[in-house]
Amino acid sequence: MLKITPYLGILVLIVSIAGLWFPLLGYFLLLVFATLLITSIFRGRWFCGNLCPRGSFNDFWVGKITRNKKIPSFLKSYWVRIPLFMLMMGFMGYRLLSTQGLINQIGMVFVIMCLVTTTIALFAGASVSPRTWCTFCPMGTVQNIIGGNKYQLQVDDSKCIDCNKCEKSCPMQLEVHTNNEKPDCIKCGRCITACPTKALAFEA
Ligand code: SF4
Ligand code: SF4
Ligand code: SF4
Repeated sequence: MLKITPYLGILVLIVSIAGLWFPLLGYFLLLVFATLLITSIFRGRWFCGNLCPRGSFNDFWVGKITRNKKIPSFLKSYWVRIPLFMLMMGFMGYRLLSTQGLINQIGMVFVIMCLVTTTIALFAGASVSPRTWCTFCPMGTVQNIIGGNKYQLQVDDSKCIDCNKCEKSCPMQLEVHTNNEKPDCIKCGRCITACPTKALAFEA
């Protein structure tokens, strides 16, 4: 299974900061959007737990300064996430239309979007838990909607001893072994590694 690496997080800083001087770097976000949309069809939020540069940034960089608190449950609600998705997409669409098709200005729209969301992710992650932003990130919500029922984590109840180690290891703070419906599972596999009885596995 592919594991997310700390090095991917560097890309977030490159786009957010160097992009202010080299706006074409913003087009990197199009590659990210395309990849996560395609992978979500088959594996739900797999991209978030294995390939997303900001996911890596949150896990390994923000993870060093976080207070590790409980993520407020209202942030997981679709009543918060869907309007936020529409608001951000609407705002980005408006900004893109106002560029009048100029290549550098389009790139700068993506750079600013990356900078703003990275700043929110940094503060939310530092003050609550590293993956707080990923709870309501519009791109995570899209993957949830497209493929939330794909590549589900299975629990073998005959092996589970209710030790709760899986839930303590889950960066998304999910009900790992008590709830089979986990559309926000990012397929990071940390619960599988933490389980002492090998009761967890992804569906084939
Ligand atoms: S939720 Fe958003 S920021 Fe977090 S890993 Fe997924 S796409 Fe990246
Ligand atoms: S349930 Fe397991 S695989 Fe899914 S996000 Fe939590 S730790 Fe990762
Ligand atoms: S870590 Fe494994 S044994 Fe422990 S509660 Fe989770 S699934 Fe059950």
